[in-house]
Amino acid sequence: MKKMTKDRLQNYLIFCFQNTQSFKGFWKQFRSSCFVTIPKQVFGIFIILTMALTAIPASAEFSTRDLNNEQIMALSWVQNSAEFKALAHQAFNLAKLRWDMDKKGGKKCVIVDVDETIIDNSAFNAGLIGKDYGYGNSTWKEFCFDESSLAIPGAVAFLNHVADTGGDIFYLTNRKAMPEKNIDLTQATMKNLKALGFPQIDKKHMLLRTGTSKKQPRRDSVTQMGYRAVLLMGDNLADFDEAFDGDTMDVRDKAVEDNKDKFGDIFIVLPNPVYGNWEGAVYGGGKWYKKTAKEKSELRINTLRRFKFSK
Ligand SMILES: [Mg+2]
Repeated sequence: MKKMTKDRLQNYLIFCFQNTQSFKGFWKQFRSSCFVTIPKQVFGIFIILTMALTAIPASAEFSTRDLNNEQIMALSWVQNSAEFKALAHQAFNLAKLRWDMDKKGGKKCVIVDVDETIIDNSAFNAGLIGKDYGYGNSTWKEFCFDESSLAIPGAVAFLNHVADTGGDIFYLTNRKAMPEKNIDLTQATMKNLKALGFPQIDKKHMLLRTGTSKKQPRRDSVTQMGYRAVLLMGDNLADFDEAFDGDTMDVRDKAVEDNKDKFGDIFIVLPNPVYGNWEGAVYGGGKWYKKTAKEKSELRINTLRRFKFSK
């Protein structure tokens, strides 16, 4: 008898079922095709195993749902750990210290990113747990229009301090203001920020994305208005300088090393373990978004430095 692989057994049983009218006929057909006598008990086990194997649905393929589920621990940390809140306070306490230390005159400002820098959108990603779809214009729009993002601890107090001490705040976000593409998050974002108590929420200070996702041109526009940025704050390196626009891990690491003295000085980083350009770098940069959920998950694992246990 030939070696009975899973596929061969499945195909063979399907063939037998299709060509017989009854279980008796099927049994006869099956036995006559085998060159050995098979006990009924063994045959029964074969049937049960085969039914179990064929019952595995096509959805067993690794999907976006599985990828979303891999974010549970990162989301739990953001939402539930006191350490996240402490790190946020640490960032804004340091920001206040740096702001107050600056004694130069002129038009001074702070440039802040919005998402995951001053407001917490982790409920968006948590809402995707168990769903087989991810971030996209429609899901993001639905979430933003709910205007339910929470303030990150320390953010409201610090930015009001800047406003109260003569500074301007520019909210530089990649939330889209692109009505031509059927997405304009300007009003919803402004209402959400205003309701949370953030200052200077007006057209002058809101710098949403109207074209490129690169932030340097919008930073330059602040300089062109005569402002000097005392501080830049963000959860993503691209929030600070175009030097960080590289999309591979090596290039990003080198940019950080090259600019290491600026962190805690004019650059202040907020922690975001859920998403960011770091994730695309893990997938190799470039057109990483075209990779399948399975490929992304494998790259998440294969880029880890792992200890080899003895057993
Ligand atoms: Mg951000």
